[in-house]
Amino acid sequence: MNQRETEGTIIKGYSGFYYVLADGRLYTCSLRGKHRLKGDDRVFLPGDRVRLCVIEGEKGVIERTLPRRNELLRPPVANVDQVLLVFALASPDPDFVLVDRLLLLAAHAGIRPVLVWNKADIAPPERVAQVQALYKALSIDQFVLSARQGDHLEGLKDLLEDRISVVAGPSGAGKSTLLNALAPGLSLKTGDVSVKIGRGRHTTRHVELIQLASDALVADTPGFSTLYLPDLPAQDLAEFFPEMATHLGHCRFADCLHRTEPDCAVIEALEAGRIHRQRYNHYLMFLNELIERERQAPKGR
Ligand code: GDP
Ligand code: ZN
Repeated sequence: MNQRETEGTIIKGYSGFYYVLADGRLYTCSLRGKHRLKGDDRVFLPGDRVRLCVIEGEKGVIERTLPRRNELLRPPVANVDQVLLVFALASPDPDFVLVDRLLLLAAHAGIRPVLVWNKADIAPPERVAQVQALYKALSIDQFVLSARQGDHLEGLKDLLEDRISVVAGPSGAGKSTLLNALAPGLSLKTGDVSVKIGRGRHTTRHVELIQLASDALVADTPGFSTLYLPDLPAQDLAEFFPEMATHLGHCRFADCLHRTEPDCAVIEALEAGRIHRQRYNHYLMFLNELIERERQAPKGR
């Protein structure tokens, strides 16, 4: 038989089969007999890279998975390149505590955050200047756009290409509208005409990656829990605020928490205007939460 091997990305698993995108085609794959996968008892996730053997037409057999770069729990997706934090500039107004929580979760997961400010069509102009001032010291990508009107989507489209992305943000921010705007003519296997992100239709077991453009994959289930801070020691929190992280190591005390300690490099940067006051206030808020958590459940007991 004329068999061919290639590499691809799992976009979903369903009743014993895996759907693998490879060379621009979607293959329905089964697994090679158990003996070939011995020592590899991980559950495969959407996003996993695999080597497959094409049997005939659009059918294949997965020979093995390639090493994972990372793996997110919520939603369960492997090899995530970036998380799009989608917030409306207005209606609803952005909750900046939530923005900073999600930025922290992304930084802690080691996944690049991208800020997407939606509903530019109804935003007061000063709001745009406000968000740009707030986050410019973080040197991350920010996009101001209107998903409903399809305005200013180009830059974001480029950023999605050849990557696996997860979308996060509050309900009503326009996540579903955005995905539909990014993929005109999107047709899901379920027969749905449009993507509804995180509306109960999907259990976390059936997360799938949606193919927006030729090689732009986005999870159909929103990312992160917004209720909890990541599991990290209070002492490490500042490392996950990029504009603070650059000053660490210059404080007088090695265990400085950057509150009221003398000769604190973070407070100096704050006073010099290099760290935004609101970001710093949220740092203090999260710090207190972490300290409180440590007090209630001390480690090592
Ligand atoms: P999700 O909960 O984050 O998925 O948000 P949806 O995509 O369901 O959008 C919530 C509401 O905001 C809907 O009524 C959308 O039509 C509206 N919406 C989404 N994007 C925009 C936009 O760019 N401008 C305006 N004015 N409304 C939008
Ligand atoms: Zn300090």
